[in-house]
Amino acid sequence: MTTLDLDQITATALSGTSISREDALAVLGSGNDQLMGVVAAASAVRRKFFGRRVKLNYLVNLKSGLCPEDCSYCSQSLGAKTGVLKYSWLSTEQATAAATAGVGGGARRVCLVASGRGPSNRDVDRVGQIIGHIKAENPEVEVCACLGFLTEQQASTLHEAGADAYNHNLNSAESNYAEICSTHSYSDRVDTVETAKRGGLSPCSGLIAGMGETDEELVDVLFALRELGVDSVPVNFLLPFEGTPLHGHQELTPQRCLRILAMARLVCPDVEVRAAAGREYHLRSMQPLALEICNSIFLGDYLTSEGQAGDADLRMLADLGFTVQGADGEEIDPMELLSARGAKHGHAGHGAADVAACGSAVGAGCGSSCGGCDHATDSAAAPSSDVAEGAEPEVHVRRRGAGTQVPANV
Ligand code: SF4
Repeated sequence: MTTLDLDQITATALSGTSISREDALAVLGSGNDQLMGVVAAASAVRRKFFGRRVKLNYLVNLKSGLCPEDCSYCSQSLGAKTGVLKYSWLSTEQATAAATAGVGGGARRVCLVASGRGPSNRDVDRVGQIIGHIKAENPEVEVCACLGFLTEQQASTLHEAGADAYNHNLNSAESNYAEICSTHSYSDRVDTVETAKRGGLSPCSGLIAGMGETDEELVDVLFALRELGVDSVPVNFLLPFEGTPLHGHQELTPQRCLRILAMARLVCPDVEVRAAAGREYHLRSMQPLALEICNSIFLGDYLTSEGQAGDADLRMLADLGFTVQGADGEEIDPMELLSARGAKHGHAGHGAADVAACGSAVGAGCGSSCGGCDHATDSAAAPSSDVAEGAEPEVHVRRRGAGTQVPANV
């Protein structure tokens, strides 16, 4: 293996060039004694291209569960017995209200996600209408759609309706793909990213780490994403939902997650790298270090699982001295956002002290009040502190926000 030369790696990435495959492998293979050096290298690159800014993204699950595909990591597959919320399309009003709540919480981008193999033309029209309403209420927000495989015409329709971006993750390397899914192929996913691009949509595509892949495969998928010219790279960490084939997979440590994020940053120096699903569950108390590497996170809950309280996200950014990315280069003080929602001094269920209690769960698959009391109860089994030694931490299924009567975590 190539020796880790952090000075050379940092200089390469600071020039906007990807580090080599060998160096990417050296980053993944580095020891804990080198971890802070690796984080510092990635942080220097993050700060050069993104300063102190953090982009907040907000997920709206338009259609949940009942997917005929068999992605083994996903809680929404028909074959998974996960007990996640199952519902068909949210109405335009419900979706707009959820998105607007996320924007009120500081989100710069709203991600509209629907489970399933891909949309019908009618589905695309429906999502186009939702996008129109969201943009009318929140003209500055970016909208990213994530609807599965789509045609070029559907991509163009979404673009014309106001969609800015399209998310379709590669998830894993080509060599590992058959291990995680049999109903579609890696090349189907690559094709979809290219189709979205041709339709005028900014490509967002990332991966899920922790599914049995090798270091080489992690490097492969990052280089594939770079080759595809994606604009944003969500790095998810597997949430081993009970009832999915990958339940029981616990191959990640916080240090490993930081190395993976750092490798992503150094391969894609000037591209948005997002610490996505699994942030709270796997990074736990190391989350702040992830923000030194990534310039983007999801605010609040995930598609089918709970994230830490939105207030805790903002407090973490404030503690780090980061700002929230607004429109046209505006940088917003996270404390201003907290203050605006009346939480400046914290309240039961949302203070910084809740981070451990809420830092339990996230979702991995394809509004503005807290719901905190519920959450505080639900999160009693948070993995970071309450789980018996040797026991597998539980992934907390989302029971609030879109598709429920319970206010969202934002
Ligand atoms: S990842 Fe997407 S395509 Fe795969 S099972 Fe989940 S919702 Fe369906």
